Amino acid sequence: MAGEPRPGVAGAVTGAGVAVAAVFKAACPDCRASFELAAGALRLAIGASDRTTFYSFTCPDCGSAVRKPAGERIVELLTGGGVRTLRLHITA
Ligand SMILES: [Zn+2]
Repeated sequence: MAGEPRPGVAGAVTGAGVAVAAVFKAACPDCRASFELAAGALRLAIGASDRTTFYSFTCPDCGSAVRKPAGERIVELLTGGGVRTLRLHITA
């Protein structure tokens, strides 16, 4: 009458099916709203210099397209969080 062990519950629930939701805090310079964005809502563009490296998103409040410079740390954070990254190769 002893309960039999339930297979799969502890062992199987790693990896697939478990969404690791990375969210990033951002703020809109237009309407001053602050919010959290999922990785899929952000885009990162890496240029040749830090002047051309920036991330962008659309404000969920006012719909404004926001673009902000991304330093090394932010780049690391965003790429690590699964944000779509665009590499710009500019030969000037
Ligand atoms: Zn806004």
